[in-house]
Amino acid sequence: MKIILMGPPGSGKGTQASFMASITEVNSVSSGDLFRDNLSRDTELGRMAKTYMDRGKYVPDDVTIGMVMSWIEAPENKKGFVLDGFPRTLLQAESLDDRLGAIGGIDKVILFNVPEPELIKRLAGRILCRKCQTPYHKVFSPPIKQGFCDMCDGELFQRQDDSEAVVRERLSVYTEETSPVIQRYKELGNLIEIDGSLSIEEVEQSLREALE
Ligand code: ADP
Ligand code: ADP
Ligand code: ZN
Repeated sequence: MKIILMGPPGSGKGTQASFMASITEVNSVSSGDLFRDNLSRDTELGRMAKTYMDRGKYVPDDVTIGMVMSWIEAPENKKGFVLDGFPRTLLQAESLDDRLGAIGGIDKVILFNVPEPELIKRLAGRILCRKCQTPYHKVFSPPIKQGFCDMCDGELFQRQDDSEAVVRERLSVYTEETSPVIQRYKELGNLIEIDGSLSIEEVEQSLREALE
């Protein structure tokens, strides 16, 4: 099973990616998490990506495509995957299709629709685990022990790029650069749109139905 999760920042991709991966028995990856992992290890790629991420801009295609393709091509991900936040540009989508051509392409593209005021509230309260990247929300999805991850007891932190000014820029970059990708999958006929504004459990239920 090869699945893509799409949606604006804050629409619930990260929250649902591990659920999707568990019910389809494949691994999931977030391109944003891969960049943040490089950043925390202070790699050259991480330092370069930071200059874009801090401003809410997309990291250039060549770098992003190279990074995600090497994850996809790892032996443990050959049987399938859930991609969270990739592709976001037409070039990324085309590269993915070229690369997957021989093994059958993408099975399902799931788009989370959430109104902008709700996205702003979600991102303003988002906290995530420094160790395993699990997202929480101060009000909507708080951890059991304040400040620490339920899964691994890692420390929770707030992303710098979740500040209101950067969020506004990310939403406008999404509309500009990712709308054509959504249109493309719509035309190809494998786009499934989901109401991402419902509760986490209701969204999980819609995902189960989408997989049937
Ligand atoms: P969100 O889930 O809130 O949209 P991510 O954690 O997925 O945010 O991404 C954080 C940042 O990483 C983005 O603002 C962008 O700079 C970079 N990034 C992530 N995925 C991509 C991508 N597919 N193409 C270009 N840049 C990306
Ligand atoms: P994305 O990966 O698309 O940027 P996240 O999964 O990180 O989005 O979710 C953004 C924020 O919204 C997080 O704080 C998360 O806990 C919260 N959240 C996710 N899904 C829901 C939901 N269905 N209802 C309320 N809050 C949600
Ligand atoms: Zn954790």
